[in-house]
Amino acid sequence: VSADEYIKIVILPFMGHGHLIPFLALAKEIHHQTGFNVAIANTPLNIQYLRSTLRHDPNPGIRLFELRFTSSDHGLPPNTENTENLTLDLISKLFSSSVYLRTPFHNALLEIVKQQGRPPVCVISDVFFGWAVDVANSVGTVNITFSTGGGYGTMAYVSLWLNLPHRKTDSDEFNVPGFPEICKFHVSQLHRFLRNADGNDLWSRFMQPQISGSLRSFGWLCNTVEEIEPFGLDLLRKYIKSPVWPIGPLLPKPWVTKSLSSNCDSLYRQLAGKEPEISPEKCLQWLDMHGHDSVLYISIGSQNTISPSHIMELAIGLENSGKPFIWVIRPPLGFDLKAEFRSEWLPQGFEDRMNKSNKGLLVKNWASQLEILSHKSTGAFLSHCGWNSTLESLSQGVKIIGWLMVAEQAYNSKMLVEEMGVAVELTRGIQSSISSEHVKKVTEMVMDKEGKGGDMKKKAEEIAEHIKAAVKDELDDKGSSIKALDDFVSSIKTRKQDLYVVSAR
Ligand code: UDP
Repeated sequence: VSADEYIKIVILPFMGHGHLIPFLALAKEIHHQTGFNVAIANTPLNIQYLRSTLRHDPNPGIRLFELRFTSSDHGLPPNTENTENLTLDLISKLFSSSVYLRTPFHNALLEIVKQQGRPPVCVISDVFFGWAVDVANSVGTVNITFSTGGGYGTMAYVSLWLNLPHRKTDSDEFNVPGFPEICKFHVSQLHRFLRNADGNDLWSRFMQPQISGSLRSFGWLCNTVEEIEPFGLDLLRKYIKSPVWPIGPLLPKPWVTKSLSSNCDSLYRQLAGKEPEISPEKCLQWLDMHGHDSVLYISIGSQNTISPSHIMELAIGLENSGKPFIWVIRPPLGFDLKAEFRSEWLPQGFEDRMNKSNKGLLVKNWASQLEILSHKSTGAFLSHCGWNSTLESLSQGVKIIGWLMVAEQAYNSKMLVEEMGVAVELTRGIQSSISSEHVKKVTEMVMDKEGKGGDMKKKAEEIAEHIKAAVKDELDDKGSSIKALDDFVSSIKTRKQDLYVVSAR
């Protein structure tokens, strides 16, 4: 292998689109900033997804490595090595079976070492692969954990799983180790897997060793920005006691320029293979008809939906508020998400009234989110507070109404409300009930340009400025995220030299 073909970094994402996408973005960013060749290792199906994404956007610095893994060996249906294709119950099986990637991953690293005559400078693995630390060390390199979440969300997730503090009290409110006393958490902020975890259940038995393993990494990379999360990053650094490099936000590049062309494709769309039913151009034209900061954009992530009564109450509340909106809408819970949307799920005549009055645009299934968020007419975002959506919204200075569903979304929302002051919560979870009056009240309050709505907007705009500054990449003016990536690279290079000194002795 010639020197310019060396694989310098090997990346191992978890098997779900929500992980593959930021890891691929990370691989591209590292290659772009350093020229390093980066290999992404994963199971055959996920490599196939990545290959088709890279076909749209070829990148010679990125190699793909297939790891042997057969889902049916682990009680999973054939060809289901990705959370997207699985029901919640089978997802836990996918997690447990992921430890079987250890041997094929080790073999892949040994093969790289054999071909190159030297190990890669580091492995970057997901927080769910704590075993990668020992595997990386065994071939003479180090492991870095990449958290696809923010500093605060990662800190909460790590400490909650490792300590299960809610199990040690009868109260619904409790403290989380590593957070200051006054920063109380509430059981309604925990996903049911975590709420029910007792240290001996399937999820704890997977999460606890993997997360503790990851704490032995050489350092952590985080998809966030130093200046927007000083509190969360400080807590995380103290808790994990190793360097944390905030190198985000890893978003498709054109967002920086604020001049997204209408055919700018998000990574998600390519990877998920979902085409918007209403073209991005049409959404933008619709937004053009509305005033500055006047439209509420509603979307709850790539795979969630809400109940039939939620859809009804949301629709009535929005109509009564009179505020214009774009709503990415899917069949309700209990129905096939890929099925045709039925008008009976909405109040009678709703879609017609919204079309005629230009008050609401319903986009079935999937919209070009970043383009909508970056349009000047978009004033607020009703979001599930998934980390990518959060970063996308903040990068455009758009305030948030939170309706959190699962994973670390409740912690993201807690931070958006308490630390940043850019969000209010509409409700929590899929089981919660909402009324149209509440939807109307919250929508009016947030869309208001004065009062609380005005304050939220001001804060969101300040955060957007910090994010833009963090990714500035000029010779004499580098932002914090660019500097963090430089620092990460020089740390692993120094580490590499240490290893050579050791092996040369
Ligand atoms: N997304 C989109 N259009 C949609 C729904 C989602 O482009 O209609 C994209 C969104 O821009 C974001 C990603 O899908 O990049 C969702 O990621 P997030 O972390 O917010 O939530 P998840 O889907 O993983 O729960």
